[in-house]
Amino acid sequence: MKFYSIPAGPFEVNTYIAFNDLGGRKEGFLIDPGGREKKIEKIIKDEGIVLKFILNTHCHIDHVAMDNYFKEKFGIKIMANKEEEYILKNLKEQAEYLGFIYTGDVVIDEYLRENEAIAVEGVNILPIFTPGHSPGSTSFLVNDKYLFSGDTLFKNTIGRTDISGGSQELIISSIKNKLLKLADGIKVLPGHGEPTTIGEERKYNPYLI
Ligand SMILES: [Zn+2]
Repeated sequence: MKFYSIPAGPFEVNTYIAFNDLGGRKEGFLIDPGGREKKIEKIIKDEGIVLKFILNTHCHIDHVAMDNYFKEKFGIKIMANKEEEYILKNLKEQAEYLGFIYTGDVVIDEYLRENEAIAVEGVNILPIFTPGHSPGSTSFLVNDKYLFSGDTLFKNTIGRTDISGGSQELIISSIKNKLLKLADGIKVLPGHGEPTTIGEERKYNPYLI
């Protein structure tokens, strides 16, 4: 798998463009499209990627702001955890309050199922439900090498839990019982900020020691 990480939108969400690297036709997907849509489109075009779907780690506005834009542009489906639907009910208010462009209601076209793999050619994506930052927060383990951790696990910190539906107890148990079970060498690609590894977070993350 190859990927681009584009900090996008007012909260600089890491929007990822991930795609297979098999030398032929490139198939790929977006994770958390939050803005910078023209730049992202240019990369997709220049690389010749055929987009298959959008994955959302959760549905706070900064992570879904451009879902509808890409859904319409490329005719692709939006996938997220069903538990996030309640957040989508007040998306317009979130957008207005936080300064995002509102592109209409976001509808989840297909619900993620935990541990049920989603695939594009050469890329195996395993959704791991990691509630705590929000009830349906999901991390994606890709090819047993990369973990897209959304707003659950960050470099040296964890996601905030003071937004409605958040739970500090749950986020810590999600990370300890699910993410820290993964191998040290797995690269963690979070929803904001710098990448890290499972091993580094196991050793140095003050919330997990
Ligand atoms: Zn969030």
